[in-house]
Amino acid sequence: MSNSVSISKKLEIKRKYDIIVCGGGVAGVAAAVTAAGKGSSVLLIEKSNILGGLATLGQINLFVPMCNGRGKQIIFGLCEKWARMSAKYGFDTIPEEWKNGEPKEPTDVRYFQRYSPYIFALQLMEEVRASGADLLYDCIACDPVMEGNVCKGVVTESKSGTEYYECKMLIDVTGDCDVLRRGGVPTVAGENYFTYGAKLITLETCAKAVETGNIHQAYGGISGGSINLYGDNQPPEMPRWSGLTAEEVTDYLVTNQHVMLEKLMETDRKSRDIAQLPLMPQFRTTCHIAGDYSLKVADAYKHFDDSICAINDFEHRDHLFEVPLRTITRRDYPNMLTAGRSASGIGYAWDLLRVIPPAIITGQAAAEAACLAIKDGVGVADVDIKKLQNQLENDNIMVHFPDEYIPEDRTVIIHGKNSAEIPGGHI
Ligand SMILES: Cc1cc2nc3c(=O)[nH]c(=O)nc-3n(C[C@H](O)[C@H](O)[C@H](O)COP(=O)(O)OP(=O)(O)OC[C@H]3O[C@@H](n4cnc5c(N)ncnc54)[C@H](O)[C@@H]3O)c2cc1C
Repeated sequence: MSNSVSISKKLEIKRKYDIIVCGGGVAGVAAAVTAAGKGSSVLLIEKSNILGGLATLGQINLFVPMCNGRGKQIIFGLCEKWARMSAKYGFDTIPEEWKNGEPKEPTDVRYFQRYSPYIFALQLMEEVRASGADLLYDCIACDPVMEGNVCKGVVTESKSGTEYYECKMLIDVTGDCDVLRRGGVPTVAGENYFTYGAKLITLETCAKAVETGNIHQAYGGISGGSINLYGDNQPPEMPRWSGLTAEEVTDYLVTNQHVMLEKLMETDRKSRDIAQLPLMPQFRTTCHIAGDYSLKVADAYKHFDDSICAINDFEHRDHLFEVPLRTITRRDYPNMLTAGRSASGIGYAWDLLRVIPPAIITGQAAAEAACLAIKDGVGVADVDIKKLQNQLENDNIMVHFPDEYIPEDRTVIIHGKNSAEIPGGHI
């Protein structure tokens, strides 16, 4: 008796699009609205019921610093627009020095914004609605249909059943490279520490909100695991999860939720409640494309001819990087690319690439590159880089950082370690 089954289905083409964006996190929304804004027909597929991914569903509600720590803004584009948009209708935590744009004088105060995740999710939905991109909520992008290394479209699962949509370009911004992986695109897995945070309200935080007249103060935090991005104090008995199998995702969630409940049980049940649980696993680094180039810490202060954006280190001042187009492409897969959390980076450089501000900008750049590739009839890795960079500059993205931002001492110290001492892997 066989211990396998074979499934075959004939699917009609439901609709043809120029660009299909798989995943409606910040990178996906940025890609979808950018491509639709250029007149491309776009389908954005999101498996949950709100947009924003980790930045909303996942309860990560902080635009980490978008400047070099000396008063110079590095990240602009849609990220700048959305940070200010989130401050307009939700919490506004933009520091006074940055309220009206880049400060006139140098300052150590960094430009960040902590926002209301659910209001931001509604605003992202409005961005998509206004852009003209089609959106499918509660729909999973499953297998790409491949002809050799060319993607013809993607199979979806939703209330409508199994369907097939065709496209000229596919952008996988599922955060986990799920669709690219299934299409055979080489990828690299990461590791995730014991981390799971939720929003808590207590009588004390509510009183503080009333006292200050600021509802933002009503939220505190509670965690299952609470290990930082460097893995400090990861309990030795805890595994590091890749997050790439159903069993691992479940084990990570069950372990963390169990610990969170135990912590809650130690507190007075009348004095607190969980306000928001993360509705997707808080994995930092699951899987990235094995791109044509992988950004590394040693690339600090280096200019790249094919840069699509400049980014700054959100934890350490001064450190600046340029992100080559090659971090989101594979030349041997001409019409598939990624952005955001699954751009190609090594160790701490991956951490710098994946956070919200760069995720938005690389999403925007992926869409511009895909539109240009379609227009010029070339593979996405082979677009005319000058044309792409001009377009990105028109989108208010800093493609190359100015040399005057480079400090005299170029030593890169990360979390107290010289970059040469930093091991590979997560960090
Ligand atoms: C613990 C933790 C703390 C962090 N802290 C910060 C911070 O303070 N500030 C900061 O800037 N960044 C932080 N980050 C990082 C940041 O939140 C993410 O890296 C960033 O939001 C990633 O955006 P993304 O769009 O690339 O991917 P994601 O946010 O992962 O979005 C992927 C989207 O795709 C959807 N999806 C997945 N698979 C499918 C599928 N098959 N079909 C359809 N849809 C699919 C998901 O539902 C999701 O909406 C943190 C991350 C973690 C885990």
